[in-house]
Amino acid sequence: MTSDFIVGIDLGTTNSLVAYMQGEIPAVIPGEDGLNLVPSVVALDEKNQVVVGNAARKYLIETPERSVYSVKRLMGRGIEDITEELKLFPFHLADDIQAGEVLRIKIGERTYTPPEISALILRQLKRNAERFFGGPVAKAVITVPAYFNDAQRQATKDAGRIAGLDVLRLVNEPTAASLAYGLDKKKNGIVAVYDLGGGTFDISILKLHDGIFEVIATNGDTHLGGDDIDNLLITIALDDIRGDLGLDVRRNGETVARIRKAVIEAKIALSSQASATLDVELPGGKRYQREVPQQAFEQLIQPVIDRTVGPCKQALKDANLKPAQIDEVVLVGGSTRIPKVRQLVQNLFGRVPHTDLNPDEVVALGAAVQATILGGGSEVTKEMLLLDVTPLSLGIEVAGGVTDKIILRNSTIPASATQYYTTQVEGQTNVAIHVLQGERELARDCRSLARFDLKGVPPMPAGMPRIEVKFLIDANGIMQVSAREQRSGKEAQIEVQPSYGLTDEQVESMLLESFDYAEEDFRQRQVIEARREADTILAALVKGKKNDAWRQLTSAERRKVETLEKALVAVKDGDDYHAIRTGIDTLNQGTMRLAELMMDSAVTTALKGKAMDDTGLEEGPQAGHPVAKADFE
Ligand code: ADP
Ligand code: MG
Repeated sequence: MTSDFIVGIDLGTTNSLVAYMQGEIPAVIPGEDGLNLVPSVVALDEKNQVVVGNAARKYLIETPERSVYSVKRLMGRGIEDITEELKLFPFHLADDIQAGEVLRIKIGERTYTPPEISALILRQLKRNAERFFGGPVAKAVITVPAYFNDAQRQATKDAGRIAGLDVLRLVNEPTAASLAYGLDKKKNGIVAVYDLGGGTFDISILKLHDGIFEVIATNGDTHLGGDDIDNLLITIALDDIRGDLGLDVRRNGETVARIRKAVIEAKIALSSQASATLDVELPGGKRYQREVPQQAFEQLIQPVIDRTVGPCKQALKDANLKPAQIDEVVLVGGSTRIPKVRQLVQNLFGRVPHTDLNPDEVVALGAAVQATILGGGSEVTKEMLLLDVTPLSLGIEVAGGVTDKIILRNSTIPASATQYYTTQVEGQTNVAIHVLQGERELARDCRSLARFDLKGVPPMPAGMPRIEVKFLIDANGIMQVSAREQRSGKEAQIEVQPSYGLTDEQVESMLLESFDYAEEDFRQRQVIEARREADTILAALVKGKKNDAWRQLTSAERRKVETLEKALVAVKDGDDYHAIRTGIDTLNQGTMRLAELMMDSAVTTALKGKAMDDTGLEEGPQAGHPVAKADFE
C-alpha cells in the first residue's frame, strides 16, 4: 500500500470508524482488538498514558474525572452554547473559561481543547489503518453532521491536522451514506437519510440529479438516540431492584454501569430475538434477573422513537415534498437496527428502507468512496460531484442590530451571493461587517461568526457609499466574506475564523504538542487585538469631543463618558483581556448618545447645504458602524 492512500473516517459522537476501498468495494478497517467500532472515548490510564476506544471505556466508570466521551458535542462551540450539554453530560471543563474562548476539558491534571480530544480518536484510527496497511496513512476524508456550522467544521478540520492527517474534504454524513449505497447510479430521485445513533437523531433529504447529490433539507434532535432507550431500561431495572430486592443502587456507580452494560446487551438482542433476559450481579451477593419480551420493549420505547416523526415532517416541509415523493430511504446509526424503528420509517415515507449495509458502518464506507473520488482512483466514481447545503442562513448585521440574510438556509454549497449596502453615518470611513449565522431577526439572537472592518472609505454623506458584500462558501462549508466600496475601490476580506475556532498558529503549536503555550498565544493575541480596539475607540472619542455634539451633552453625561474613558485608559495596556473588553464595551455604550448627536448635527449641516468638508466631520467616527440597507440594487 502506498503512503498516498486516502482513508474515509466517520468521527461519531458515540463510535468512530475508519474505512478504505478494497478494489471497488468499501470496507471497514478493524482495530487491534478485531472490532470495527472505536468508541469515541478518551481516558488517561494509571500510568498517565492516553487510551482511546474500547480500552478507555472502563475508565468512564472507574475514574470519570480522567475520561471523556461525546466530545463531538463540544466541537467548535463556546461556553455559552453548551449549557444544555453540561446539564446532560459529565464534562469536566477547566474553571477559567470565559465567553469567546476555546473550551478546555480537564482530563486528570491536563486540559485539552475539543479538537485535541477528537485528534486523539483520529490518531487511534490512523494507527489502526497504518497497522492494517503496514505503511503510513496521511490523507483522509472525514464526515460531519449536515447541520454542523462553520465553527464545528473548522474544529473538525483542526482535529485532523492535529492528528497529522491532511483532511482533503469534509463530507456530510447523509451524503456519505447515500454514496455507500451507490444511489448515484440511479441518476434521479429523492433520498431520505434517517440517522438514529447513540445520542443524536438527524434526518436529511437529498435530491439526486444526473447522479449528483444535493442535500435539500436537514433536521433532527441533538438529544435523542440509543442512550434514551438505555436510560428507560435502566430506570425500570433500578425501580425493580429497589421494589423487589429492597436495594437502592442508584448512587453505586459501578453497579449502575453493570446494569447499563446488561441493558444494552438486552436491547441489542431484542433487535433480532423475541425476548431477552436482564441479568445483573448486585452488591451483597444479590442478583437481578428479568425477562424482557420484545413486545413490552417496543411499547416502552415507542415514545422515544415517536420523537423522530416531527423533525422528519419538518424536513419534508422545508424541502417542499410529500412522503410519496421520496424514492429511496437510507437507514444510518446503530439504533435503526431496532425493527420497530424500521417499521416507523417505512410507514412515514411509504418505502422499504435500505438496510443491506451495517447502519453503524455505512457513513465510514461512504467516506471511503468519497476518498477514492478525490484521489481520482476509480473510474466509476470519478464523475460524481457532491453537493451539500448550508444548514442555517448566513448574513450580516445592519443598522439597528438587525440581521440581513445573504445566503438562505438549505442553500446548495459551494455557494456565493452578493448584496449591496451603504453607510448610516456622515463621513463614515470605517464600516463594520459583522457576519452572522441563524434564522432570527435580531443580530444578538444569531450566532456571531466573525467581525471585520472595511477601512479607509473616503468620507461621503451617509447613504452615498456603495458597499458590495460577497459571501463565498467552498465545498467544505468554509466561508470567505469580502466587502468592497465600489466608488473608491477599497476592500477588505476574511476567511471566517469561527468564534470558537483555533487559530492556525494554535493548530501548529499543537502539532508540536506544546498545548500549554498555544493557549497562552491565543490569550496574548486576544489581548493585543483588544488593545488595538481600545486605541481606536479612544481616538474616536478625542475627535468626538471637538465636535459641537459634545457640548450638547449634559455635564453629567460628559462626566460619565470621561470616567469611562479614564477607566479604559487605565486598563488598556495591561494583560487583563476581560478588563479591556469590558472597558471597550461600557465606553461604547456610554458614548452612544454622543454618536447620535454627532449624526444629527451632520444631517442638519448637510440640510443647510454646507459642503461635507466644512462640517468638521470629514472623518466620521473611527469605530466602525454597521452598514445600512441600501436602496440601490
Ligand atoms: P453515533 O453515530 O452516535 O456515533 P452509532 O451509529 O454507532 O452512533 O450508534 C450507536 C447506538 O446504536 C448505541 O446507542 C447502540 O447501543 C445502538 N445499537 C447498536 N447496535 C444496536 C442493535 N443491534 N439494536 C439496537 N441498538 C443498537
Ligand atoms: Mg453516526
